[in-house]
Amino acid sequence: MMRADDDRRIRKVLVVGGGSAGWMAAAMLGHILRRDCAVTLVESDDIGIVGVGEATIPPIRTFNQTLGIAERDFVRETHATFKLGIEFVGWGAQDSRYFHPFGTHGRHFDMVYLHHYWLRARAMGDNASFDDHAMAWALARAGKMTRPSADPRSVASTFDYAYHFDAGAYARFLRTQAEARGVTRIEGKVADIELNGETGFVEAVVLADGRRIEADLFIDCSGFRGLLIGGALNEPWEDWSHWLPCDRAVAMPSAHPAGSVNPTPYTRSTAQEAGWQWRIPLQHRVGNGYVYCSRFLEDDRAAQLLANRLDGEALADPRFLRFGAGRRKRHWVRNVIAVGLSSGFLEPLESTSIHLIQANIAKLMGLFPTRDFDPLVIDEFNRIAIGETERIRDFIILHYKLMRRDDAELWRHCAAMEVPDTLALKLDHFRKYGRHVPREMDLFAPDSWLAVHLGQGNFPEAIDPVIDYRDIDAREWLAKLRSALAQEAARAPDHARFVADTIA
Ligand SMILES: Cc1cc2nc3c(=O)[nH]c(=O)nc-3n(C[C@H](O)[C@H](O)[C@H](O)COP(=O)(O)OP(=O)(O)OC[C@H]3O[C@@H](n4cnc5c(N)ncnc54)[C@H](O)[C@@H]3O)c2cc1C
Repeated sequence: MMRADDDRRIRKVLVVGGGSAGWMAAAMLGHILRRDCAVTLVESDDIGIVGVGEATIPPIRTFNQTLGIAERDFVRETHATFKLGIEFVGWGAQDSRYFHPFGTHGRHFDMVYLHHYWLRARAMGDNASFDDHAMAWALARAGKMTRPSADPRSVASTFDYAYHFDAGAYARFLRTQAEARGVTRIEGKVADIELNGETGFVEAVVLADGRRIEADLFIDCSGFRGLLIGGALNEPWEDWSHWLPCDRAVAMPSAHPAGSVNPTPYTRSTAQEAGWQWRIPLQHRVGNGYVYCSRFLEDDRAAQLLANRLDGEALADPRFLRFGAGRRKRHWVRNVIAVGLSSGFLEPLESTSIHLIQANIAKLMGLFPTRDFDPLVIDEFNRIAIGETERIRDFIILHYKLMRRDDAELWRHCAAMEVPDTLALKLDHFRKYGRHVPREMDLFAPDSWLAVHLGQGNFPEAIDPVIDYRDIDAREWLAKLRSALAQEAARAPDHARFVADTIA
């Protein structure tokens, strides 16, 4: 039996902030810590949330499943649609189009990666695109959606999916989930943070109306402000804007295009003169935004360009957002853990922010502290958090580095820029030998990297020499694969029907 004075368990957790990060953290804490720990969330209605995170990647499904949320409820409550990947338009060359699919390009049929066979077939005159070998693209281009097959022998098992959703609705939905699990919400504005004079640990936050909220553990979900981690604990910010120069966005929702009844089951990212434009279809509207670099484009002009390029009627005035790419040096300092925008930001090109929220929550549950706050635990958390963020950073920089357009200053700058050593190594291997060299904590699998390299025209100087020792008629095999994918896609329902059936 544990004696009361031996009990070093955390008894009070305070989540500061009620955006996606705050409510995701609160819902999971409430779900896992079922007894003996009070979870409280404080948020300010006056300040509001960023609320533009609308596209996700497949692990979000695991997060929802862990909370016991049924897909039907989630899709209904957040006006969600399904996402099979991202179509990139104008990335690489001005007239290029390619798809970053969730899942793989076919099934591996040999120890040599499929893309080497595709490169060989291409050199022999085949003109099928690399995308044509991905199940996700076979569905996406036909406007179809289904769930992956559970049979690993079927090509219909080789894709994955995520969602597009209304981020504000998701935060509200998670709030009901969290409150049902005993989380207490306090409305108020944090005006002060009290630190222990000896240890420097946070003891309490004080609200503008004088209320004081104590806790053992504080989760800083206060967004770009980073009230605790940056404000009170002064943890420095590492700036990555020299690699990721976009620092503004303007968002504007629109109606679905007239006559369109089937929303695309994918995000579209179109490279523009000073950044790129997103298009994310939800059930009731389309989310649009222009992410740009303020050095090369004025805010008003960005809003005007975005408005001109919508494919449906604008539903709201433009909303401007400012940000900087980078990360907090450490995400966990003393008894404060930063989750969400307070911990860092990578621009939304690959829809990874909500995933990084989820990743920090998962690490917190896996490395949950006692009131001793052992540095061994904290250091491990930070090691993983930094690795995960930097590997995603490299993947996003890859898109910019592989720009071959010389029609705009931004793209010329990106093509010429130095990249982090970790990415330079991957680029060297791919350019010379067409090989992807994975590294610890890569979130994106080899197929994702291949999609971007080949989609943006970064063809290797040589293909795998092992291919010459094999005795495989790859052209026939690839043709059979494409036909199997097309057959599977033809059987699947339209995306709109699939959404309607999911929420019925
Ligand atoms: C242009 C853009 C596009 C994006 N697109 C995507 C995307 O497609 N996919 C994706 O995964 N992510 C995307 N993101 C990121 C995503 O929006 C955020 O990761 C997500 O919303 C989490 O934000 P947050 O909860 O950390 O911060 P916020 O939403 O800013 O929430 C901060 C919270 O802190 C509270 N707060 C702040 N100060 C105080 C105070 N003094 N007292 C009390 N409360 C306070 C606020 O009230 C609020 O509740 C995008 C971000 C931007 C900028």
